[in-house]
Amino acid sequence: MAAAALALSGCALGPVTPLPPDTAAGLAPVRFLLTFDDGPDTGPYGGTPLILGQLADNPVTPGVTAIFFVQTEHPRRGGGPEGRAQMHETCAQGQLMAVHSGMAGGHIPHTKLAPDVLAASLRRGQADIAAQCGQALAVVRPPDWAYSAGTQAVYAQAGLGMLMADANARDGKIYGWTISLRRRPHMRHELEHVGQAMAAHRLPAVDGVTPVIVAFHDPNGFTASHMTEYLRILVETARDNGLPLADPPFYTDTQAAARAALARAAAGVYARESWP
Ligand SMILES: [Zn+2]
Repeated sequence: MAAAALALSGCALGPVTPLPPDTAAGLAPVRFLLTFDDGPDTGPYGGTPLILGQLADNPVTPGVTAIFFVQTEHPRRGGGPEGRAQMHETCAQGQLMAVHSGMAGGHIPHTKLAPDVLAASLRRGQADIAAQCGQALAVVRPPDWAYSAGTQAVYAQAGLGMLMADANARDGKIYGWTISLRRRPHMRHELEHVGQAMAAHRLPAVDGVTPVIVAFHDPNGFTASHMTEYLRILVETARDNGLPLADPPFYTDTQAAARAALARAAAGVYARESWP
């Protein structure tokens, strides 16, 4: 029975070692900053509205504020009328929005673009977001997490910080049943790395809490239909790791979330040291 459960949950993931209570007591408590890449995913069954509904109304932390890293020009994302309307609606609900891709071709790694093409696409992406939201958050999340000294120079010139993540739901390419079985042990291990980074004082505190950035993908139908459960999993696996949790454990204040994102992008240090 135990062996079967272990096989189903992913054999590589053994038990975690929680932080000692006296270590945890000396740390600024964790507040999760959720991020969603690749959207907007529109329509009555689209991932973005499903996620927004659960962020707004859930039994863990009602009114969660997150960051949506969007593809602003792809015709089936932010480049069509429905996508633009969704971007407007997302921001109207107090969510933050920032550029993932400003290319009509969509999810093209920035490392494959000439610097002037990348710079123009970032400007276009910022303008697309500003048209729907008034303002884009001054950070960027590179497609496929692919960056270089060259792309970072372009980001800096555009006034954008690069925001990566401390924990990844790994829902960008793994869909359905597999991720449903593995997500709890996977997140428990992601947060073990977060605990180690906090104990080593590698993650900065912002406004008295430790922002922990978690990456999801809103076009993933499984993520979108299980967001409330993910909120629970984050809180429960944080406890499994002995992490001190802020009250509330998720950002609910748009400006506080923006400050956390900008500070973390400026610091440029994450619990993860490599990206999927
Ligand atoms: Zn992406």
